[in-house]
Amino acid sequence: MRADLHVHSSASDGTDPPAEVMRRAALAGLDVVALTDHDTVAGHAEARAAADALYPPLALLPGMELSCRLDGRSLHMLAYVFDPDQPDLAAELTRIRDDRVLRARAMVDRLAGLGVDVSWEQVAAIAGQAVVGRPHIARAMADSGAIATPREAFTRDWIADGGRAYVGRYALDPVRAIGLVRAAGGVTVLAHPRAGREGGRGGGWGVTNEQISGLAAVGMAGLEVFHPDQSDAERARLIALAHDLGLAATGGSDDHGSLTGYRLGCETTSAGAYEDLLSRVPGNPV
Ligand SMILES: [Zn+2]
Ligand SMILES: [Zn+2]
Repeated sequence: MRADLHVHSSASDGTDPPAEVMRRAALAGLDVVALTDHDTVAGHAEARAAADALYPPLALLPGMELSCRLDGRSLHMLAYVFDPDQPDLAAELTRIRDDRVLRARAMVDRLAGLGVDVSWEQVAAIAGQAVVGRPHIARAMADSGAIATPREAFTRDWIADGGRAYVGRYALDPVRAIGLVRAAGGVTVLAHPRAGREGGRGGGWGVTNEQISGLAAVGMAGLEVFHPDQSDAERARLIALAHDLGLAATGGSDDHGSLTGYRLGCETTSAGAYEDLLSRVPGNPV
C-alpha cells in the first residue's frame, strides 16, 4: 500500500487545483492520499469528487496543516479526519484566515511608512482569489520599483521574518490545536519537526525531544518522519523517539505542485503506521 499523507493544492499554496492533485496522485501509483492544505479544508469537496471518479478509486484522507507557534517559533501540525464544522475548530480557522488579511494590510502600512509606494488595493488585485500573503506584497513592491525583483523583498530590510516591515501572524498554540482536533473527532501529527531547511514554509528548525514529548502527553498521535527535508540521520532519531513515545511514524511528500517540483509519493507512510494512526481516531472501532 502506498499512502502519501502530506499534500497541498491551490486551496492553499500549491499550484494545482485539488482535482488535478487527485489525478496526479493516481498516476503516481498512490492508494491513499491526504489533502493537507494550510489552515483550510476548502479543497476537500473538489478532491473528494475527483478521487471518487477515478478507477480504481483513490482513497482520500481529509486533512489540513495547521499553523501553530511554540515558544515563539512557527510549527506545523497535520490534522486528519476531523469534523471541520465543529464550532471551536471552525472559529479558529476563520480567525487564522482573517488574520492573514489584517497582517498583509499591516505590512503594506509599514512599507508606506518606509517610503515604498504600494497600496492595499494593488496587493489585493495581485492576490485575486488566492489567500493573500507575502509573495503578493513582494510583487507589488517590484511593480512599484522599490526593488528589482520580488525575491529582494525577502530580506531583513523588508518583509523577511523579523524585517523592518514584517508583521507576525496569528498562530495556534499546538497544545490547543491537538485538543481542538481531538474534540472534532480527529488526530494530529507533528509535521516535519526536523526539516533541515532554514526559512522554509514554517519548518527549518528543530523541535526538541522535550517539546515533542510534551505534545505526545496531551494526545498528539504521530510524528512525520519521512519528509523530503529531513535527513536520514534525523529520520533515524525520530523513529526511535516515536517508538519511545508510542507515536505513529508517518510520511508524506509535502508536494506543492510545480513550486516544490512535482513529487507526489516521493515519501510515504507504511501500511502499519497508517493503520496505527487510524486506530487512534477517537471512537474508531479499528
Ligand atoms: Zn509545513
Ligand atoms: Zn505542508
